[in-house]
Order: sequence, then C-alpha cells, then structure tokens
Amino acid sequence: MPKHISENTELMKEWDWDANNKEGLDPTQLSVQSSQKAWWKCSKCNYRWYSVISNRSRNHTGCPACAYKVLAKGYNDLETRNPDIAKDWHPTKNGILKPSDFNSASLYRAWWLCPICHHPYQKRIMDRVKKGAKCNHCCDPKVVQGKNDIATKFPEILKEWDDEKNFPFQPQNFSYGSKRKFW
Ligand SMILES: [Zn+2]
Ligand SMILES: [Zn+2]
Repeated sequence: MPKHISENTELMKEWDWDANNKEGLDPTQLSVQSSQKAWWKCSKCNYRWYSVISNRSRNHTGCPACAYKVLAKGYNDLETRNPDIAKDWHPTKNGILKPSDFNSASLYRAWWLCPICHHPYQKRIMDRVKKGAKCNHCCDPKVVQGKNDIATKFPEILKEWDDEKNFPFQPQNFSYGSKRKFW
C-alpha cells in the first residue's frame, strides 16, 4: 500500500500541481490517508475540484463533473456536451433557463422546439441525451433510428413516400410497426 500521494499513480495523474503548489501541498510529504483538502484536475475533462485526499484514495471518488454530480459549465453542461440537442431548446418556454444551466444527465423536464414540425414538446434532458427521446408530434416514440424505422427497414418504399403530403412526418422517425397512415 502506498503511503504517500506521490507513490499513488492514480492520484498523481490528477494532482493539480499549479494549485497545490500555491497552497504549499507536497505529494511526497502528504499521506494518502490525509484529511487535508487538495486540488485535482480531471485527466478526462480537465475539470478542477477541491476535495479531501483520504476520500479520494479510500472511496475511489473521481471527477464530479464526469460523474454528473455537479453542474460544471464548460465541462458537462448540455450546451457543451450535446450541442446538437441544445439547439432544440425552446427559446421562451423555459423562462430564463438555458441549456448551459443543466448538466447532460439532468432530470429536468425542459421544453424543446421541434426543428421538423415546430411544435413545442416537453422531455427530460436525460431522456433526450441517453434515450434519444424525440418530439411526440412528428415522431413515433418506439422508433430506434437505424434499427426499426421505416427508412431502414423498407428502403424500397421511400421512392413512393410523398414528402409533401406526409410533412412533418419523416420515414426515419417512425417504426415500421407504426399504426399511423402515410401517403
Ligand atoms: Zn472529469
Ligand atoms: Zn416534431
């Protein structure tokens, strides 16, 4: 078992030298069991945070931004992580809240503006990011694009698909089992 932080390669990877030097913290002198707080810099997302040394070594706690335990603007917020989803953010229905006010794993039921049919709809941020949840006005909730959508399953019928009459419905947004009728 390493005794000093400097002997623990995992911790040393994230030791924030600049900030810790300023506080006079020396990893060759501090025990991994120390209750002293130190600065860490995430090796994945570069987020910096301040936490007790023994907590990190004992509980193996990692970067709070990568674990979505905190909102870290510029690191794990919706705008930074998922700009493709953030662009559907409804311009007025969310009040003063912006996509950068939530992390990508947030359970907040936000309002979105569908880029296809222009209907507003409400979905949890996490469902949009993790499950690819889409607009219920023009998309089939059961669709998994690239798997069971009409365009993937029956590419031959796309030739006969009437874009104009079916608008705003698109064949990639409906599962082939959909009960809706199309032109
Ligand atoms: Zn991180
Ligand atoms: Zn829509």
